[in-house]
Amino acid sequence: MGTLILIKCFSITQLGASLSSIGAGPGATLSSTSLSFNPIKLICLVGWMYLCLYFVQRVQFSSLVPNNYKSIANVATLFLGPALLLVLLIVNIVSKSIEGHRSIFEIMKEQLQNASASMRSLRLGSKDKKALRLLDSSGRSITEIYGHGEGKREDSHILELTSQIVADALEERASDILIDPKDALTYTIRFRIDGVLRIVEHLEAAVCQAVINSIKAVSGMDIAERRRPLDGAFLAKTGDGTVSFRVASAGAVNGEKLSIRVLNQNAGMFTLESVGLSEKQRAVIESMVAKPTGMVLMCGPTGSGKTTTLYAMLNTIDLFTRNVITVEDPIEYVLPNASQIEVNPKADITFAKSLRSILRQDPDVICVGEIRDEETAAIALRASQTGHLVLGTIHSDSNASALVRLLDLNVSSLLLSSGLDALVSQRLVRRLCNNCKVPAKLSQNQIHDFHKRAINYKNIFQANGCDQCHGTGYFGRIAVFDILILSDELKADIANNKLSVTQLKKDGDKKGKSNLRKQGLKFVVSGVTSLEELKRVIG
Ligand SMILES: [Zn+2]
Repeated sequence: MGTLILIKCFSITQLGASLSSIGAGPGATLSSTSLSFNPIKLICLVGWMYLCLYFVQRVQFSSLVPNNYKSIANVATLFLGPALLLVLLIVNIVSKSIEGHRSIFEIMKEQLQNASASMRSLRLGSKDKKALRLLDSSGRSITEIYGHGEGKREDSHILELTSQIVADALEERASDILIDPKDALTYTIRFRIDGVLRIVEHLEAAVCQAVINSIKAVSGMDIAERRRPLDGAFLAKTGDGTVSFRVASAGAVNGEKLSIRVLNQNAGMFTLESVGLSEKQRAVIESMVAKPTGMVLMCGPTGSGKTTTLYAMLNTIDLFTRNVITVEDPIEYVLPNASQIEVNPKADITFAKSLRSILRQDPDVICVGEIRDEETAAIALRASQTGHLVLGTIHSDSNASALVRLLDLNVSSLLLSSGLDALVSQRLVRRLCNNCKVPAKLSQNQIHDFHKRAINYKNIFQANGCDQCHGTGYFGRIAVFDILILSDELKADIANNKLSVTQLKKDGDKKGKSNLRKQGLKFVVSGVTSLEELKRVIG
């Protein structure tokens, strides 16, 4: 838009100059040569013309001017410049104040906030755009879907802004992009980075609604439906490959909210070395995964990184010699040389049904995205007993509560004891930013406590904040693990129903939590994370 204005400005300045020379005639030329050249006047004149043209653009897209009067308003603005917009603004504020019975100052404050939001949206849109193309599931680009018809010029600005938001999210390693209405005039854009939400931008409601529409269009969602929850998906082609996104929309107070999940980054990069396991833990998991049969379940709440570890486990398996089939909801990462099946309850493709069908395809390793019902649990446990290695996740707080959860699902205790081999609980803690971390200020009580437990507290650091970590003090995450191997003794207790569920819940949770805490404390005393972060995640 800026270039356009400059071109217009240039041509009109030229036009103005030639007009003045025509209108003024030879006498004027004579007098102008006798006048001294005043650069300040020239700058003022060019500045005023630029402002006039800028406000013509503003009027063109302003909601303050009804469509019928746009052409008249454009001509008026060309001569009156900012003055007309000021008049319109005053009329708008006064009429809003009369309609809404609010004070003029209150409305002016709102308008100012709005203007600053819109300036930020321009700034966001004008950042260097990375080579990023948004495509729908059939491979059509966002401009193909969206870039025709009326108002194309305005659309292209919105499409650039949409691409920029997605590019920024990828650059900042965001796992989610959340777009929510803040109030009637402003929307908030937030990124989830390292598991924590951060506000990235406030956008004017009209601009943001257009961004939402462009995302819904590229995701194959109905733009007109703003109340009912909708699902969709789109792809982004970047220089490094393709990233896919899952989109969910729903009506909210003051507008519509959109959440976008970033999926399908290459799973090849996850290794057991990089996820944060200690040497001992890694050896245990490696030996488990190397076995031809058995079952290892990852436990943890949503966003605890259990899927990443699951992929890291799968990466240790030779996918050429062992037939690996995964059932997932959704497929979060692409695993080359493995068969990945996506669950789709709407099409009646459930975990249990998919599992039953893949068992007929003679797999060596089965990966179950999530065990959440009795049928899936039973099939998976039976598969582990009949010559398959089964890896999976279960949504639970700790290893002990995973056992409780499985028993709650009505899985027979005999099947559970014979099928399950190990449970691995996981949490993600943020790593302190190496650029700005500072030695922790510990209280006397804490120092006393560390002394008592013979813990070296000299290397404990705390978050500070710098430009690199956007002032959060953290950069990246590391996983904390707690592994429970089901010993023969424990298996016998489960099989004979000797395990009291309530007791298990009480003791196990305490034990599970404290084990996770113990592992996490190792990262604290080595300065990888902070005490505050450990408390936030594990307690
Ligand atoms: Zn920092």
